[in-house]
Amino acid sequence: MDDLKEHTIPFSGLKDGTYQHRFLLDREFFLRAEGDGFQGGMVTADVTLDKQPNLLVTNIHVDGTVSLSCDHCNGPLELGVTGDQRQIFQLNVEEDQGDEELVGLDASTHSVNLTQYIYECIRFALPVRRLHPEGQCDPEVDEALQKLAIEHEPVPDPRWEALKGLKNQRP
Ligand SMILES: [Zn+2]
Repeated sequence: MDDLKEHTIPFSGLKDGTYQHRFLLDREFFLRAEGDGFQGGMVTADVTLDKQPNLLVTNIHVDGTVSLSCDHCNGPLELGVTGDQRQIFQLNVEEDQGDEELVGLDASTHSVNLTQYIYECIRFALPVRRLHPEGQCDPEVDEALQKLAIEHEPVPDPRWEALKGLKNQRP
């Protein structure tokens, strides 16, 4: 996901201390995120920024709902998301070590952009399988899928059964 300019936080000139930022992520934000199947959403991201002499610690808290498709019936699905993520930036670093936990910023960097971290926080807060609660899937699709499952139920292979029988007879 591309960095959005509203998620850029300037830190040079900030006194050491804690700062709060709040971002609202609406339908437009989720439609920009390609490939994850989002169809909309309304999520609040609260960011606590702790500025220290050579460190910038950001704690992101997301809370809201996202619109997706159900993995089972493909019908529209609203899911609640709540999650936290911490990202630490090391300031005045000569070379970024490529560490995901600790991102190095050189002395010429004066701001951080949090779009990708906020987005990751939302993605990690979602379940792997995105499903309607039991019994709330689209009934027509559900019925069709059940029929399909019955037709494709594996038939036991008689030869395999015979082999198993032989094995059991051995002492
Ligand atoms: Zn469903």
